[in-house]
Order: sequence, then structure tokens, then C-alpha cells
Amino acid sequence: MSNSKLNRLRELLAEVNDVGKAMAVLNWDQQCWMPSGGARARGEQLATLAGLVHRLFTTEEMGGLLNDLLASNLTGDEKRLVEETKYDYDRSRCLPESFVKEFTEARSAGFDAWRHARAANDFPAFRPALERILELTRQKAEYCGYEGSPYNALLEDYERGVSSDHVRAVFKPLAQRQKDLVARIMASPNAPDVSWVHRNWVAEGCSNFGRKVLEAIGYDFNRGRRDPAPHPFCTDFDIDDVRITTRHCEDLLFSSVMAELHEAGHALFEMGLPREWRRTTLCSAPGLGIHESQSRLWENIVGRSRPFWRHFFPMLRAEFPTEMAHLTAEDAYAAANEVRPSLIRVEADEVTYNLHVVIRFELETALIEGNLSVADLPAAWNEKYRDYLGIDVPSDADGCMQDVHWSEGLIGYFPTYALGNLYSAQLWEKLEADTPDVWQRVESGDFSPILSWLREHVHRVGRRRLGPQIVEDATGRAPEAEPYLRYLEKKYGELYGL
Ligand code: ZN
Repeated sequence: MSNSKLNRLRELLAEVNDVGKAMAVLNWDQQCWMPSGGARARGEQLATLAGLVHRLFTTEEMGGLLNDLLASNLTGDEKRLVEETKYDYDRSRCLPESFVKEFTEARSAGFDAWRHARAANDFPAFRPALERILELTRQKAEYCGYEGSPYNALLEDYERGVSSDHVRAVFKPLAQRQKDLVARIMASPNAPDVSWVHRNWVAEGCSNFGRKVLEAIGYDFNRGRRDPAPHPFCTDFDIDDVRITTRHCEDLLFSSVMAELHEAGHALFEMGLPREWRRTTLCSAPGLGIHESQSRLWENIVGRSRPFWRHFFPMLRAEFPTEMAHLTAEDAYAAANEVRPSLIRVEADEVTYNLHVVIRFELETALIEGNLSVADLPAAWNEKYRDYLGIDVPSDADGCMQDVHWSEGLIGYFPTYALGNLYSAQLWEKLEADTPDVWQRVESGDFSPILSWLREHVHRVGRRRLGPQIVEDATGRAPEAEPYLRYLEKKYGELYGL
């Protein structure tokens, strides 16, 4: 009995999956190739398909099947498939349709207001839209239900299995240690020479070099492709079609190479999800933290390492023989790891990055819990930048309006960026213990031990486990900040002679 019901469930999930992936193709096209004149029609097409996905997924038949299967004697992966699908089913039915519509409109108005207000550096023009977003976000938390802080209901959308109390307890000492490390680095006389980095680099050279890096780490161009787009991102239509985009900045040599490696880290994860569960709930990531751990691991731990640059620098120099004639792998390694407190999160180095995230977490929890008003946000933001990063914020455009997230109602999202960093270092410590020659292998250009380890312990799990459980299963310990701090203090202590 449960076999035929399970087969029926898989049929229905396959339909939902296929329409969702078709939306992803349209989205990808919109960001990479669509002429601007196509925007209106594309918006209509995506809205129609989003409605269709919702209808297909929330039918009475789906609900009945899930209840019957939950009451049957399924075990193992099949049981997990039903439990996870039921979770999604309940979650997508907890919001009334009228609310979803209202929230969608407020988000779209919020994005529009943010875009104009940011361009004009006019926070008061953004304030009413943000107040509306926050009001609806609090309502959303009430509809979804939560224990403790309403922020928990929001965090759950991005990183299940983690509470705001847990994040607070991890972030507080983390911020203090990172702040201390930044202060010691700033006081060090050993700053790297990065003057050579700032010039116009021909995009073609960056692109050629990027392709060599992607191929070496195992990004399969038969199952993916790379296209130019204004913002780097990764999208998947199936585990055998996972695409990335890049933006080759002529003046930002390292950030463009590293952004490419970052997206490839996301892509390798998607390509390694459990094939036997294609077109079902289990063949996806359990949360954003674990996804981000994969991009950060490749971008930072591998891509900003000395062995990586010892291997790749000759190839980079071959693209720019004149400009790099006087440089060595050591120069590239030092420049790729320059630490400098700055205003903008997306351009931040490894040592300051989490501080940008902690600031946003503290402010958005205060906004949601009613301890901070939107009117006071710019002042609170600026004070925290002085406190955590020691810098003055000259304008709200580069201050509290720099990120798109709040304008689109993405509240509860930011912590996953820092959690991803923490997971990456904890996973790496275990990977390195299991593979003692890993750095020699990297230096010789052999990245296969890294990919196989991640495939086995992270990628193939999919949604059979939650993100924090994957880290714990792989490393034997619940997620913690210590491995990341050890990693930073060792690497930067050596680089800056602390
Ligand atoms: Zn990412």
C-alpha cells in the first residue's frame, strides 16, 4: 500500500520540481541575457509559474498522501522524504493567501524604495517602506509560530536547527576575538604590498585563468556553464545542469577570481546532491549555512591559501606576463589576504567579514523584537561600525542601506553567512585530519581528495539531515566557533607576524 502511495508522492513532487526548475531557467535568462524590454512579460511568466508551483504543492491529494505515509511504517530515507516534504507542506500553508499577496507587494515596493533611496542617499525616503516590511515580517512570524523570540520563526526559513539564542551565544565571543585580531593586524608593520593589484586587468585574462581554476577543482563543464552577469550567482536546473555567473572586474583582480571560486563551491555542492533522490525534496540543501560553508571553503580556505597560489600563480602570470613579470606566488598569496576594515560587507576580507554580519544580526533582532525603531537605525548602524570595525560611516547609502536584503524582507538571512564560515573551518579541520597530505596535493594541483571528502560527508547527504547535523556527523562535534578562530589566528598571525 505505502509503495504505491510513495510512488504517487514522487510523481507529484517531480511535477512541482520541474515547474520550479523551469522558473530557475527563466530567472537565469533574465539575469544573463534577456533584453530589458522583456522585463514585464518575464515578471508575468514567473508570477504565473510561482502560483502554479504553490497550487501543485498544496493540493488536498498531497496533504492526504503525506498524512497516510506518515502513519505508515516507512523507515530510513523514505521516512525522511515524507517528513521533510510534510515540513515544507505545512510551512507553505501557514500563510494566508491574502497575506502572501500583501507581503509580495510590500517587498516589491520595498525594493523599489530602497533602490531610489540608496541612489539618492536618502534614508528617510526608505523608512516607511522598511517599517511596512518589518510590520509584515512580524506578522509572518506570528502566522508561522515560534518559541522564544519571533526572530526564530524567520531564521528557520534559512537555517533550520539553529535558534537566535544560539546565534547570539556564538557571535558574542566570536566578534570579540575577531575584533581583537583586527586591532593587532592594524598595529602590525607587516602589511602586504598591494599597490600592484590596483590597475586595469584585461577581463579576458581573468576569464581564462578562472576557467583553469574551475576545471582543476572539479567543476564539470559538461554539467554546467559559466556566463557573464552583473552579479555573481549559482543556479541549478538539475544536478547535471548547475550554472554559475561571473563578473570580471578589471580593477578587482582577486575579488573577481575569488567570487568565481565561491560560486563554483556552491555549484560543486549542487552537483553532488543525492542522485537517487532527483526531483524530490531530499535532493536539495537543508539550509543556507551548509551551502555557504561549501563556497567559503573553496573561496577562502583553499583559494586564499599559499599552496593554492604556489600552484596557480604561474598560470595567472602567463595571462599577464608583463604586468606580473616581477611578482612571485608569495606576492599573490599576501595580496589575496590583505586585511582592511571597510564599509562594505561584500568586499570584506576573512578577518573582518563576520563582524559585518554580527552587526546586521544585532540590528535586525533588535528591530524585530521591538528594541530599535527604524528611525534610529542609521545612528545605531554607525555606532556599531565604529565599535566593531573602528570606522566612520560617511553615508547611509554605504551604511545601513548597502545591502538589498531588508528591502526585500529577507530578515533572518544574514547569520547564515557567518555560520557558513564557521562550518567551513570545522569541516576543513576534519578533512585535513583525514587527509594529512592535502596541502601537498593542492600545491601539485590535485584537488580530488577535497572534493571526494566533501562529496562523502556533505554533498550526498542532501536534506536527509539538517545543516548543523551534517557538520556534527562529519566532524563528531556540534558546530562551534573555535575552529574558525584557530584558523584565522594561525593564518593571519603568521602573515602579519603577530
Ligand atoms: Zn554564497
